[in-house]
Amino acid sequence: MKIEALPRRRYTPNPTPIQRLEKLSKHLGGPEIWIKRDDLTGLAGGGNKTRKLEFLVAEALRQGADTLITVGAPQSNHCRLTLAAAAHEGLKCRLILEQRVAGSYRKDASGNNFLFDLLGAESITVVDAGTDLGAAMNVEAEKLKASGRKGYVIPGGGSNALGAMGYVVCAREILAQSLDMGVAFDEFVVASGSAGTHSGLLVGFNAANSGVPLTGINVRRPRAEQEGNVHKLAVEAAAFAWLPAPSRESVVALDEWVGPGYSLPTDEMVEAVRLFARLEGVLLDPVYTGKAAAGLIGLIRRKHFKQDSKILFVHTGGAPSLFAYQGVLQS
Ligand SMILES: *Cc1c(COP(=O)(O)O)cnc(C)c1O
Repeated sequence: MKIEALPRRRYTPNPTPIQRLEKLSKHLGGPEIWIKRDDLTGLAGGGNKTRKLEFLVAEALRQGADTLITVGAPQSNHCRLTLAAAAHEGLKCRLILEQRVAGSYRKDASGNNFLFDLLGAESITVVDAGTDLGAAMNVEAEKLKASGRKGYVIPGGGSNALGAMGYVVCAREILAQSLDMGVAFDEFVVASGSAGTHSGLLVGFNAANSGVPLTGINVRRPRAEQEGNVHKLAVEAAAFAWLPAPSRESVVALDEWVGPGYSLPTDEMVEAVRLFARLEGVLLDPVYTGKAAAGLIGLIRRKHFKQDSKILFVHTGGAPSLFAYQGVLQS
């Protein structure tokens, strides 16, 4: 179906700003860095999942669901925002938390974990890495059904074809702003995790024939695996929205800034989070945008981009998890 015809809830009143990061650009002595402030989307604390939830929650409501069921890591921004959307819509919400790092769940942890409680999660089930998460969510859906309720299952990160529509829309928004501002970007850079954001942007830019390369910076998986995931979802999302499918060659998801693993700190992440905070007053997060910005900075330092180019970094949010990483980030 065409995106225009899909049910959609609106959680962000305006296009999110695009801003120039002059001090950071000067500090790095490289190309012009710009930022798309998708940390300023609506719902509690903002971030990229808000855009996906506009379509996913609208579909849940269309189906008459009374409860959202989803899954994420113990500091999941996606779980926080799904809870916020549920509260806003008068729905209940149940979470499955996957301990991607063994023993990483602590009931009293701060950051997003604290907000799960504050936002009124109806239940939280903690499972080990490698658990069949789809099956775990279906168990919750069955339990609800048995008591006469109706659950709607949202995959991890909201990353299916429907959720990816949020970032097809964002790609159009970026291109319209670029035209409006009279600023022609040469490169786009974004964090690549469950792949919905990266895939959606790719489909949107490709459908508009923007010709601007999009570089994903991985936060979890090896390059080949992630590029395969992004391409697969991009093909599905394009078919879903009656748009042309991006080529495999247009998918780039670099894995050099993952470090020891998902959510585990790196020196480059710490440097990036501090630089953005102290030079620009912009808060990144330790798990996604800190590593993506470390990739951006690394690519600039190794002269990957032309010196006179304009690079747009898509800030996907995540700042609430900073509070769970104080020990790593405090100087
Ligand atoms: C989930 C998330 C990402 C990654 O987006 P995907 O669509 O899962 O690839 C990036 N940044 C933040 C802050 C996130 O919460």
